[in-house]
Amino acid sequence: MSRCRYSIRCFKTASHRAPKPVFLFMDGFGEELDVNCYFWLVQGNGRNILVDTGMGGSHQLDFGSYGEAFLALHQGSQSGFPVGEGEDTIAQLQTCGLRPADIDTVILTHLHYDHVANIPLFAEADIYVNRRGWEFALRREYPIFDSFPHPLLRYMEREMGGRLRLLDDEAEIMPGLSVFRTGGHTRCSQAVLIDTHQGRAAISGDVAFLYENFEREHPIGFGMSAEESVAAIRRLKREASILLTGHDAAVLERYPDGRIGGEPA
Ligand SMILES: [Zn+2]
Repeated sequence: MSRCRYSIRCFKTASHRAPKPVFLFMDGFGEELDVNCYFWLVQGNGRNILVDTGMGGSHQLDFGSYGEAFLALHQGSQSGFPVGEGEDTIAQLQTCGLRPADIDTVILTHLHYDHVANIPLFAEADIYVNRRGWEFALRREYPIFDSFPHPLLRYMEREMGGRLRLLDDEAEIMPGLSVFRTGGHTRCSQAVLIDTHQGRAAISGDVAFLYENFEREHPIGFGMSAEESVAAIRRLKREASILLTGHDAAVLERYPDGRIGGEPA
């Protein structure tokens, strides 16, 4: 472990209900599951870092008809990703005394709607995306797998310039903070490993939606490779003692105040 230590805050930014086989490969047909959508504030080393962007508020990217299609695809029996009172990104950051302009770094676990919707709020930050997945997204060669919002890709191509930082499959972003490409869920999915005051934490992205994915080493259902999902789940279990899933409501049962990894020294 490096000498840099970070603390993590988990923010719930929306709710979601979907059929259980979305979360657990070929398991739980006929059942539905209520889950949360999250974004994460990582602080340490003098930096304010977000993992994913949160949703809600008037700054969300306009996803147009693509957004509607994505929501229809993902809504199961419920209405998409409702953002509750006080759950939008600006309100959540305010609880930590931060404004969006205070965020210097945004790491995107992948480019799905519920992880990137508020990217326009961070017009000054460096945005980190997996290079191989980004290039795949731009090629748009497999429409059935191409579940990244086209308005997002256009926005990022046009607006980001040098702020878009493309990462190798194994990359240290700063001391004590690294990512590796998981694949599994999408071609650009990457997990974030963070040295905290209480050990190494992993933000899995959606390669593990639930703690059950970790506990049973059971792949996610909504993904491009069950094999990659399991490989990533096993690696995360080996390399981190604090496992943070993409959507499990139990994250906030384990950490009711959303504080993970202890406070800065
Ligand atoms: Zn996703």
